[in-house]
Parts: sequence; structure tokens; C-alpha cells
Amino acid sequence: MLGLMQEWPLVCHKIIDFAARQHPGREVVSRSVEGPIVRTTYAAVRDRALKIAQLLSREGYKPGDRIATMAWNSGNHLEAWYGIMGMGGVYHTLNPRLFPDQIAWIMNHAADRALFVDLTFMPLVEKIAPQVESLRKVIVMTDAAHMPETALPDVVSFEEWLKDADGDFEWADVGEDAACGMCYTSGTTGDPKGVVYSHRSNVLHGMIAAMPDAMGIGCRDVILPVVPMFHANAWGLGQTAPMIGAKMVMPGGKMDGESIYELLDAEKVTFSAAVPTVWLMLLQYLEKTGRKLPYLNKVVIGGSACPRAITEKFEKVYGVEVIHAWGMTEMSPLGSLCTIKPEHGDKTGDALLDIKQKQGFAPFGVEMKITDDENNELPWDGRTFGRLKVRGPAVASSYYGGAGAEQFDDENWFDTGDVAHIDEHGYMQITDRSKDVIKSGGEWISSIELENLAVGHPEVAEAAVIGLPHEKWGERPLLIVVPKEGCSPAREDILAFMKGKIADWWMPNDVTFVDEIPHTATGKIKKTALREQFAHYKLP
Ligand code: ADP
Repeated sequence: MLGLMQEWPLVCHKIIDFAARQHPGREVVSRSVEGPIVRTTYAAVRDRALKIAQLLSREGYKPGDRIATMAWNSGNHLEAWYGIMGMGGVYHTLNPRLFPDQIAWIMNHAADRALFVDLTFMPLVEKIAPQVESLRKVIVMTDAAHMPETALPDVVSFEEWLKDADGDFEWADVGEDAACGMCYTSGTTGDPKGVVYSHRSNVLHGMIAAMPDAMGIGCRDVILPVVPMFHANAWGLGQTAPMIGAKMVMPGGKMDGESIYELLDAEKVTFSAAVPTVWLMLLQYLEKTGRKLPYLNKVVIGGSACPRAITEKFEKVYGVEVIHAWGMTEMSPLGSLCTIKPEHGDKTGDALLDIKQKQGFAPFGVEMKITDDENNELPWDGRTFGRLKVRGPAVASSYYGGAGAEQFDDENWFDTGDVAHIDEHGYMQITDRSKDVIKSGGEWISSIELENLAVGHPEVAEAAVIGLPHEKWGERPLLIVVPKEGCSPAREDILAFMKGKIADWWMPNDVTFVDEIPHTATGKIKKTALREQFAHYKLP
């Protein structure tokens, strides 16, 4: 027997239709690349998205075509997303922090046919565009007055281009399973891999993100996504904010402490999301200036493990709730959020901070398990760690073109490449990437736990731990430290600081000091580069 309910495909243009109808005047405020703060509304975003869809369609772009964007978070970028999806196209966000050759590789792999680009990135696009055979058109998101000189063919100004459309267009009639977005993982090993989102997965992910024990946001919130739309979909906020009718504040290209503070204050932002580095810059700015955060209620921190000191400062000094979150591009990207279950309701102070160090529990829509190397499920005891596997309606079922098939099993479990333990209340904690975990005498040592411990030393600015070959144990940890400015801590000091806080057999065999630790384009420690750099290092 079938249910007698209506068919109502979960397609993304319904999100912007909803926002324009129920919250037409709600603002989308952006720091423009040209400088000034610009303001628009959901009603206007929808109007311009319709024009974009109309123009793309008129110019021969077809449903399923990949249309790239290389842009900061802005109202324009949002319009481009909804215009591309509304035409039936697939927005493909490009990370401008990657090397030009890597971007060209990705664009060729996706066969991008057009590109929406911010003024900032024109010099980069001039290098890349000639290498991308499929590319027919470049739309520079600015007006005629700011258009740069360029030798590239088929380059138009966004504002001039839009003048040719009246927006009299019907959204494309695509099914909810049609592709609507695409993002490549940065590929610290091997070639980048393309993740392809569907309308349905984006809609469901947007709803999951908003739930009370996930991000817990609504139409009275003012949302500032610092996390870029090109980095794992701005963690879904490009869907969630219009879906709940919340005002959006877009930071453009300026993510330093002062610029973010200015927006938080002037626009009375209540909710924001970013990687730890961004928050570190903001907190340093606040400390220097003595400013406070009277409007901000909540921040989501993820992308890499959130240092305890950041959580502590936000909550104790500024009265801002921290939600530590974990996810990945392949999961649209939210996988878990650390909000507080009633089981922990009585916790305060350090005990609460201990919980908030964890990456949290999976919301409805994400299934999670940990297994050993033979795929045996491991217990949720908060100690045993294993490979973290997930499945759900907004989790990838394969990569574009079939790469990385070994990460997916017959029952749809996706091996995240992370290593984690899960406690009896369902709180997951990442202990490592599977390729970074140190295998000593058949047992695993978490490189992340050692790093977190080492950065707690008052003279350590940054720390990385890698496993190096060892005759007796197979692998042993080397701790690599960047000292704080003006400090020169001794090896013995650091080891003494760590001793007793971890099992003895976890203690690094050696400590070495460097001026700088290499990072990936998304700000993570580049362990592959460190392993090369220290390949010949002799451990004591
Ligand atoms: P990439 O790093 O390949 O660009 P993502 O941005 O999707 O891809 O990053 C996903 C990875 O980032 C996760 O698999 C995990 O290793 C790491 N990560 C994300 N959030 C956290 C977190 N809160 N704590 C620790 N690691 C995290």
C-alpha cells in the first residue's frame, strides 16, 4: 500500500522560492570585493537567480552542465548558485587557494563550461582558462566600471550581462536526484576527487543543519558564514539560511579579526561558523582592543580539531556558545555536532569543556560506526578507536568518474579516512586520520592527541606529530614544534610537560624544532610534506 501524500520533489530552487515568499525583505549583506558593504534581500536574490538561469539557458547551457564558481562568500555568489541550480546546472565551487595547475586539472576533470569569478581572482583565471578546453564563458561578478582589461575571449561583466534578462523563466524541471553541485576534495594524496551533490541531498542537509541540536538556528538569527562557499559548501549555510529565512552576512575576501569583528558588530550577527584559525584571529583582535561580542550567541567550529583554549575563551570570557563540529566534503559536509544531551546537562566548567573537545554526535540523517581493519564493528566505550564509517542521504555514494571506489562498501558505508572513538552517549572524538595514525608495535597512537597536548605548552605555537620507521616498533612518533615568537623551549621541557598526561608508550621518541609547518589549501597540517621532509631523520 502506498501513502497518499503528494509528490513534492526536494529541489533547491524551492529553497529560494520559499525565502522570497516568506522572508522577502530579509537581508543578505556582503562585504564586496570592490570595498563597500552591499545589501540585497532574498526576494532580489531570487529575481537575479531567475535572470541567471534564463541567460544560461538562452545561451545553450543544459541541465547537468557544470558551471564553476571561484568567489568569496557574497550575495552575488549565492545568486550564481541558485541561478545555476535553477537552470538544472551543477555549480562547481573552486578553491582559489589551490595551485593553478591543480585548479585547471579539476576544471578539466569536471568539464566546466562556464565560470563565475570574483574580480580578485581574474589574474588566476587568466592563467588557468587557456588550459580548460570545455570553458566557453567567464562571468566576472562586478559592474562595467570595475571590469578589468583581459586578453581572454568571452568575458562579460555580471551586471552588464544581467541587463539582457527579464527573469521571465520557469525553474528547470529536474528531479530531486539530479546533480546540483560539485566540490573536489583537496586530495592531500593522489588526484582530487569530485563529490557530486543532488538537489535532494542539499535540501535534506540544509534541514539537518538547522535542527535544534545541530546548529539550532531560525529566522531571528543573523548568520555569518566565514567558512567559504568553496570549502565544503559553507557547511550547508547557503541552503540552511534561506530555508529558515535568516539574514545572512557575507564576509567577502576579508577574514582577519578586525574585518570579522566589524561585521559581527555592525550587523548584530548572532551565529557564525568558521575553522579554528579564523577564530584565533578574532580572539586575538578582541584581546588587543578590549572589544566584546554582545550580539553573538553561538559559533560552530570545525574543519580541524578545535583547541580547548578557543572554546574556553569564547564561553567564559565572551559568553558565546561553541559547537564543535566534524564533517567532510563527502558528507555535504556535516557529520557530527557537539551539542549537549541531557545526559551531560549537569556538567559545568572543565567537565563541560572535556565534552566539548569531542566532535559530538551524529544528527538524524547520519549513521556512524567504527570498525577495525577487518571491518568488525568496535564498541562505543569512549576508548577503543577504529576507522570511522558513515552513511546517510547527504553522504556521497561514489566519487565523480568512479575514483576512490575502495572507500565505499556494499552496504553503502563510506570510510571517512578518519580514526575515532565513540562513547556510550554517542559522542565521537577524532583521534587521527587513518594515514597519520602511528602504528607502534601493532597498537595505534593518535598523532592528534599528541599535538593537542604539545600545543598546551606555553612556549609552543604549533605542533605536528608524524610516525617514522622504527626497527623494533615499526613506527614511533616524532614531535615537530614551532616555538612561540621569542621563545626557545628545550626538548626535555616539552617531554617533561607531556609526561604523565599520556601513556608512557605514547611519548614521542624525539622533539625537533622548525620555523614553520606546511599547511594544505584548507589550512590543515600537511603531513605528507612533513613525512618527506623528515624521511631521513634518525629517531633515538
Ligand atoms: P579536505 O581536508 O580534503 O579539503 P574536508 O574539508 O572535507 O576535506 O575535510 C575533512 C576532514 O577534515 C575530515 O575527514 C577530518 O579529518 C578533518 N576534520 C574536519 N572537522 C574536524 C574536527 N572538528 N576535528 C578534527 N578533524 C576534523
